[in-house]
Amino acid sequence: MRGCARGACSAAQPRRSLVVVCGAKRAGGSGGGRQRQRGGGKQSRPDKPPPGQPAARSKTLAMTEFKADEILMFDPVPAARDALQVLYAYPSEYTVGITSLGYQLVWAFFETRPDVACTRLFTDAHDPLPRKTDLLGFSFAWELDYKNILGMLEQLGLPVLAAERGDDDALVFGGGPVLTANPEPYADFFDVVLLGDGEELLAAFTERLIEAKRQLGGASGVPDRRQLLLALAQVPGVYVPQLYNVEYESPTGPVVAIRPAEGGVPEAVQKQTYRGNTLASSTVVSRRMAWENIYMAEVVRSCPEMCRFCLASYLTLPFRPAPLEGSLIPTLERGLAVTDRLGLLGASVTQHPEFESLLDWLMAPERSHVRLSIASVRTNTVTPQLASALSSRGTRSLTVAVESGSERVRAIVNKKLATDEIVRCAEAAQEGGLEGLKLYGMVGVPGEEEADVDATIALMQQLKKAAPKLRLTLGCSTFVPKAHTPFQWYGVSGEGEKRLKKLEKALGKEGIEFRPESYKWSCVQALLSRGDRRLSRLLLLVRGYGDSLGSFRRAFKELQGEVPPIEHYVSTHYDPEATVLPWSHLHGPLPAATLVKHLREAQAHM
Ligand code: SF4
Repeated sequence: MRGCARGACSAAQPRRSLVVVCGAKRAGGSGGGRQRQRGGGKQSRPDKPPPGQPAARSKTLAMTEFKADEILMFDPVPAARDALQVLYAYPSEYTVGITSLGYQLVWAFFETRPDVACTRLFTDAHDPLPRKTDLLGFSFAWELDYKNILGMLEQLGLPVLAAERGDDDALVFGGGPVLTANPEPYADFFDVVLLGDGEELLAAFTERLIEAKRQLGGASGVPDRRQLLLALAQVPGVYVPQLYNVEYESPTGPVVAIRPAEGGVPEAVQKQTYRGNTLASSTVVSRRMAWENIYMAEVVRSCPEMCRFCLASYLTLPFRPAPLEGSLIPTLERGLAVTDRLGLLGASVTQHPEFESLLDWLMAPERSHVRLSIASVRTNTVTPQLASALSSRGTRSLTVAVESGSERVRAIVNKKLATDEIVRCAEAAQEGGLEGLKLYGMVGVPGEEEADVDATIALMQQLKKAAPKLRLTLGCSTFVPKAHTPFQWYGVSGEGEKRLKKLEKALGKEGIEFRPESYKWSCVQALLSRGDRRLSRLLLLVRGYGDSLGSFRRAFKELQGEVPPIEHYVSTHYDPEATVLPWSHLHGPLPAATLVKHLREAQAHM
């Protein structure tokens, strides 16, 4: 199990978030669920792709095989003859995409509307394509999947740049954690970006699109693209990048202003927050998923801890737990009717106010066959009872995020965790019968000094003494600034790589396993997380070079004098009072003034 889903979205995404499966029994995968019928309930679509669209007959066959293994948790409805033709894509393989809870939810939303005919698309498989597509959507959960998005656009015969698409071309929209955090580096590729929780936003967007197409279509039925985009921009949470002009101090200088391109365009777009009681849960279960046959249920959304670097908390506030009675338990029962493998998701699962009752329910003898995965466990909630309960289900190890061995650094980041509590967590894990404990830390946090890294080494030594039977591991990343957090103004520390090496050396001597995250990858993440739309051009170049930091450096060199240097995005500290951030027209849950206040609170500990 993972400590907390830092920087990840609340919807599961297999490549980046870590959900470690516990439990010993093999999934049965049988039960009361309905096996998807080949051909489904939707109207049939032509098998032969239109000119300019990929033939991919073997891929279509693969999709048929995938579909045969799907157990649907919803009832698709037949699409009307004049339904909106939607291609809904995940820019990776089927196995990855179908395990994304975000993708599952949007797909089920489209499949249950009679006014939409939805076709799924993955990089290795797709349904038979419609003759004409009105809307092409992407679920975007991992930054470097942008390359696959561009590739899919090309395969479908669409210009990769939104500005080059005509009235007849499909409208291209994107959503998901990468875009919700900061869509600007990808702004040139999307006509529309959906910002925030999909629960209400999707319906408002789809309905406005259908209505606007009807109103603006005229005799030809094809609306003027600009007018259509203007109509969509009126929907709260719908961001149309090309309707905003970005002004720079100079070609290589910072952003100085972001303004609507014309009258009628909102000054700012507010990320949408869903406040209902029922949180997300799987709409499909399949043995082809990255976690075979897993049924996922979101237990909480957001996290109340508000660690100063944490996107998973700040971007999704307020914290919302799903009530057990009438919501979460019935949801889990639905899942257990089709599989014995459950995944409890959320940035901070053990902070659910009824978590103990939930655990009691899960640990009841009649559910002894259940294989359980928990996305996040807060360090100071690990008791011998919890460890023992999990251990009895075959869990071998636990992961908790402590950030640093230094109390001072934990105060800077607002991690409300004492060293004693970390030691007690290790003791409890050992007492409860677990074999391993993985701690997750971070170097290069703003204000961190050499002595703080020493404190992390000392903490690991202390834990080794306190729980000698536990296999200890320290996973460690370098601080990456994320938009909409109080630390968005800080750059990546130049000391990060050196400090990772120091930890590696010291812990190696102690026989403690150390798993660092690549410093260079942290720099790429920072670049994309603080990028502006000038990076769209750069990304088009990098696409042909590879994924390494060297590839990005090469592209920067080629565009020298046309875009700011890489350091501007990655390592520069910005002045909160004097900087126009590239996402300043996109409003998250908290106003900038509150983020500055939280930043100042952190700085008081530096
Ligand atoms: S706010 Fe802190 S405790 Fe909560 S998910 Fe983020 S890093 Fe974890």
